[in-house]
Amino acid sequence: MVAPLASVLAFALVVTGPVWVMLLVRMVPERLWPASEPRPQRDRLNLFVWLAYMLAQFSAGPAFGGLITVAVNAAGGGLIVLPSSGWGLVLAAAIYLLAMDLAEYAFHRAQHAIPALWAMHSLHHSDPYFDSTTSARHFWAEPVIKSLTVWLAVGVLFKVSPAIVAIYAAATYYNVLIHSNTRLDLGRFNWVVNTPAYHRLHHSALPEHWDCNFAALLPIYDVIFGGYRPPRPGERPPTGLDTGERPRKALEAALWPLGYARQRRRAAAQAAP
Ligand SMILES: [Zn+2]
Ligand SMILES: [Zn+2]
Repeated sequence: MVAPLASVLAFALVVTGPVWVMLLVRMVPERLWPASEPRPQRDRLNLFVWLAYMLAQFSAGPAFGGLITVAVNAAGGGLIVLPSSGWGLVLAAAIYLLAMDLAEYAFHRAQHAIPALWAMHSLHHSDPYFDSTTSARHFWAEPVIKSLTVWLAVGVLFKVSPAIVAIYAAATYYNVLIHSNTRLDLGRFNWVVNTPAYHRLHHSALPEHWDCNFAALLPIYDVIFGGYRPPRPGERPPTGLDTGERPRKALEAALWPLGYARQRRRAAAQAAP
């Protein structure tokens, strides 16, 4: 009886983990060391966006996050078998994290390069208040697409124990802190791990910051593939889309790519001679 209960509690913790991290980040660092003007209390749009996103994850069934990797592995997939115990587990977790972060990096670059993906990802970039809740502001269909690309590719490449997938899932909660409205910055060590100051530049509304700092957890991929732009001391640009477009209501966020594409077409038509 204890084991199933522990499994249910562990699963609940993994699923709701980002929420607890977000509450902690909102209560402590964002209050103590704010980098810019805080989000107005009445602005709850990110909460609605997150609810739709979570619903999509659940309705995606087996495609839910790391379960796709576990499922692919269980079905015999996984070209490279990673160790699952002792020190080997630590090495395997490091390899898995490097591979997943690279896949996340490639997906993120595609989101900025392919118009259909940008139409969705621009919702994440439309937030004028860059804070921990921005980490939850993703279009609801994205987890499904990511499960069938990022997680599927890594699942086909590596055979790993579910513990490693859980360790990686826990590491991704750091994404909440990366988006926090805080002054956390590693200065000349920004290439080691992503920080709010580093990622804020990726969300900048200013043209001088476009196409930089795509990294998820490890900015070393920006160093390798181009786009590494460490923030200057105290550099905290305004965030959001350069056009100022953003959803005002939950329904607008739920249908964001359609509205965004329509706006783009209208703007292009007006700009045409
Ligand atoms: Zn982006
Ligand atoms: Zn972001």
